[in-house]
Amino acid sequence: MSKKYDYLVVGSGLFGSIFAYEAKKRGKECLVIEKRNHIGGNIYCENINGINVHKYGAHIFHTSNRAVWDYINQFAEFNNYINSPVAIYKDELYNLPFNMNTFSKMWGIKTPAEAKEIIEAQKAEYNIENPQNLEEQALSLIGKDVYEKLIKGYTEKQWGRSCTELPSFIIRRLPVRYTYDNNYFNDRYQGIPIGGYTKIIEKMLDGVDVLLETSFEDYKAANDISDMKIVYTGNVDEYFGYKYGALQYRTVRFETEIMEDCDNYQGNAVVNYTEREVPYTRIIEHKHFEFGQGKGTIISKEYSSEWSVGIEPYYPINNDENNALYQKYEALADAEENVIFGGRLGKYKYYDMDKVIEAALAAVETEFE
Ligand code: UDP
Repeated sequence: MSKKYDYLVVGSGLFGSIFAYEAKKRGKECLVIEKRNHIGGNIYCENINGINVHKYGAHIFHTSNRAVWDYINQFAEFNNYINSPVAIYKDELYNLPFNMNTFSKMWGIKTPAEAKEIIEAQKAEYNIENPQNLEEQALSLIGKDVYEKLIKGYTEKQWGRSCTELPSFIIRRLPVRYTYDNNYFNDRYQGIPIGGYTKIIEKMLDGVDVLLETSFEDYKAANDISDMKIVYTGNVDEYFGYKYGALQYRTVRFETEIMEDCDNYQGNAVVNYTEREVPYTRIIEHKHFEFGQGKGTIISKEYSSEWSVGIEPYYPINNDENNALYQKYEALADAEENVIFGGRLGKYKYYDMDKVIEAALAAVETEFE
């Protein structure tokens, strides 16, 4: 006789794995199904030559939520990596996020007052009070020079849309500072799990049954799932058979090179290429997330393109049109009594990892408390 499960968790990323871990702790039986041949969703790392390669794009953990930080630290010890990307525009190199190092290099100035004067003058040219899109948000925050050199080309490559068609919140993720501080995030806690992210997921799923290479469609076709509750972390529109049409996502293709004879390719984990003409958005050199351990080096060039059914979705495109369509799916999802939707794809949200943890713990609380 086959085993009885209380929950069928579709997807073994952060949301599904936290749910399964917490359910198991409460004496519930979960079956996790994962369509890929490995667990972890997009935080999956593969160790190659002693280097943890972020296979689905760089993941840097950061949060200001102490409870989330304590929660994730149960599963891994974090190093003290601080993300400080470098941006290359043509033959010019700048520090990110936008800070005094960036401004000093761009305008040859030294003090915050000088930087402010230039930025205020550039902002005044546009005089935008209520930014309606990403371009207006950027111009009203930082002015024309930074927008044109460090934002416009990168953003249009990453999102495949004009900055005037993108929501302003995307750029609000980045700090603007009048100090010489290259820390990309404002959050209180930050780091990379020592040993990679996959180990975190392995710990969460320790003792939980997992079926790899098993899609929800295939599982449903072969099994009776009527007495299981479902935790669904796949695309919400796919769950409903795209009945209102497909939501838009961006996908990323990685060109990864293993360089046995090079120790240090770019001197930094993240280098962004902000001009339009370079086809990739950034190059990640994975060993620098863990302070250079490993043999040789491994780099990944990221190419961004539009998603279509059948390939991996990465970023929901939360513009007005898609958000309106998502609301229709959300209404269906809310009415689906036996299913909990979660994660970037299940909620169609540009979530960071800490927000996924918050959402997963909230779902656990709703379910069990
Ligand atoms: N961005 C930019 N220039 C950069 C880096 C980021 O204009 O050099 C903008 C771009 O619009 C991007 C957004 O900031 O989509 C968020 O960047 P982040 O690095 O947070 O994106 P993620 O790591 O999630 O891809």
